[in-house]
Amino acid sequence: MINHNRAEAIIDLSAIEKNIKRLMAHAGKPALAVVKADAYGHGLIPVAKRAIEAGASWLGVALLEEALSLRESGIKAPILAWLTPVTDDFETALENEIDLGVPSLAHLELIVEAASKKNKTARIHLEVDTGMTRGGALYEWDELVVAAAKAEETNSIKVIGIWSHFARADEPGHEFNKLQHNNFLIALDAAHQAGLNPEITHLSNSAATINDKSSHFDLVRLGIAMYGLSPDVKTMGDSKELDLTPALTLRARLHLVKDVPAGSKVGYGGTAETLTETKIGIVAMGYADGVPRNADKTAGVLVGNKMSPILGRVSMDQFVVDLGKESQARAGDWAYLIGGVVGSHKAASYTSDTCYTADTWAGACGTINYEIVTRIGPRVKRIYLD
Ligand SMILES: *Cc1c(COP(=O)(O)O)cnc(C)c1O
Repeated sequence: MINHNRAEAIIDLSAIEKNIKRLMAHAGKPALAVVKADAYGHGLIPVAKRAIEAGASWLGVALLEEALSLRESGIKAPILAWLTPVTDDFETALENEIDLGVPSLAHLELIVEAASKKNKTARIHLEVDTGMTRGGALYEWDELVVAAAKAEETNSIKVIGIWSHFARADEPGHEFNKLQHNNFLIALDAAHQAGLNPEITHLSNSAATINDKSSHFDLVRLGIAMYGLSPDVKTMGDSKELDLTPALTLRARLHLVKDVPAGSKVGYGGTAETLTETKIGIVAMGYADGVPRNADKTAGVLVGNKMSPILGRVSMDQFVVDLGKESQARAGDWAYLIGGVVGSHKAASYTSDTCYTADTWAGACGTINYEIVTRIGPRVKRIYLD
């Protein structure tokens, strides 16, 4: 076994627990912890287990494979998987008691077929498109609820939930949220008229959980906020303003430290130039690890409490930072890409004034914090703090 510690993502599980408790207290509703995409890069199984300990009663994933991994780890809580192409193995899903999102008649028919074959009752959550124009049934909705009610009579399925997803919940008060909410009520009405009586209805993601109590229905689906990150820094404020604690610290070793003269052109394409004589650090992490190639100099690393900006383009396995002429940094020191020294990255100290954050990186790459954390690659070791 290679004992590598070139690059590490350190996950503070107590921060995740605290965020979930806080969000649940705010909502006053049960929560589904969204752990898709390796728990937003934080690690599927440890995060899922801690989320349940923190009080989440459901787990939500996109893929069936993700749901099966959770079951393999011994987790018994209800799990909903909502991105299961018609080519998926629904029989295996049923054997493992996975609840399935159902966005179309085609999905329903295949699940009914699998249930009949296995002599089981599939637990499903019908998904309606209330305006996002992505997943869920639109024109097909009325037909879908009638077909589901019919299938319920044969016990091949049970409609556990009805749900939809917001497109603009991170824009508090936007008209479009009202429109989607209203469309959801209309869809629920059609379902009731078809004879369905779902146990739970759910619509809210993190942003709606924070911004709009009226949209919570029976369950809130907590994603980015349970990891301590803001759904949208511009419209909702950052982690600190939302009283959330970022759970992830990302660090890599300085591979090399060296002095360079003024006028040095740095990296592929020589896109950056040193203005003065300075000391540079080579950080042992690159775009193959999820550090975006197009990050500009507003991102960087914290080395010995000094914010050191990126110089030039990020390479596959490394990038260059400007440590400053007086830096005492040495090869082998940790460079913190996200967060500060481990143990001190509490909400109060974890802001873009004192260290780089997932939000800084997002801003430096023209993307969102979601993409920064979910792309942290498999070469980066995950370490868990209790
Ligand atoms: C990813 C996802 C969520 C969580 O969204 P956040 O913005 O991270 O809170 C909730 N529901 C569904 C259906 C999702 O795909």
